[in-house]
Amino acid sequence: MNENSRQKNSSRRVLAKPVFPDAGLEFLSTSYTGTRAEPSLRDEPVGDVRNIGVENSNHVMHPKKQVSATRLVDFYGHDFTITPDVLIPRPETEMMVDMVLSLAGKSYLPGVKPGKAVLPEDMTILDVGTGSGCIAVTLKLELPKASVVATDISKKALAVARRNAKRLGAKIEFRQADLLDGIETQPDLVVANLPYVDENWEWIDKEALGKEPSLALYAEDGGLALIKRLIGQVTERGIRHLVLEADPCQHDRITKYAEKKGLTLNQTRGFILHLC
Ligand code: GLN
Repeated sequence: MNENSRQKNSSRRVLAKPVFPDAGLEFLSTSYTGTRAEPSLRDEPVGDVRNIGVENSNHVMHPKKQVSATRLVDFYGHDFTITPDVLIPRPETEMMVDMVLSLAGKSYLPGVKPGKAVLPEDMTILDVGTGSGCIAVTLKLELPKASVVATDISKKALAVARRNAKRLGAKIEFRQADLLDGIETQPDLVVANLPYVDENWEWIDKEALGKEPSLALYAEDGGLALIKRLIGQVTERGIRHLVLEADPCQHDRITKYAEKKGLTLNQTRGFILHLC
């Protein structure tokens, strides 16, 4: 991350003044579902949320409608266009970028010494379930030598991701796919923030989460259905590294499942796990 984006990052959870002053605040309410998330994180708004209702001047006469449709959210120092078709990027997911940078032997914070690289900077990364594209785009910007392929089952999400990649100048190959079905790329690393919320969790704020697509949030089998399927596909194909996001209360079950399939837990950081 360069100095500018680092500076931006330090203020990324501060709400910018909305263009339409009576609107925008509704987006503060999205809550974290993490059982063991740090309390300070739980009460913070999600990202730097800004109304970009003026993007299409035809809609300026209907600010409220426009406000709820499209806005910019900061992720890792970059502004991502977010629509109701994609998950709102969350701070816990930024740690996935930190983790991949350290796997590539790159420092992600000034003063933090990089560890030994386990993956080359010119690796091939496959981002499964890319949503807004925030992970894929950020990784391509941070690791310009890497080849990045990103998939999603939702065509609407892919349209948002493509738009973000184009605006932020990240060259990424996008493919519509159900997890790895039909994907022939043999990546060095798979990264995935798949839906993992169990709709039976008592602590989730369904009303707040209702602003985001259920397809991007919820999964069967205690939230692990898609993560388990992906672990199966990754191991069948002999892909060596998998970085996943899941609620910390799910990490043990994921690790045990992955071990049965031949992957071992290397490290966890917040919501993020590295299996290899
Ligand atoms: N971390 C999100 C939440 O707690 C869930 C994201 C996801 O399902 N991938 O609301």
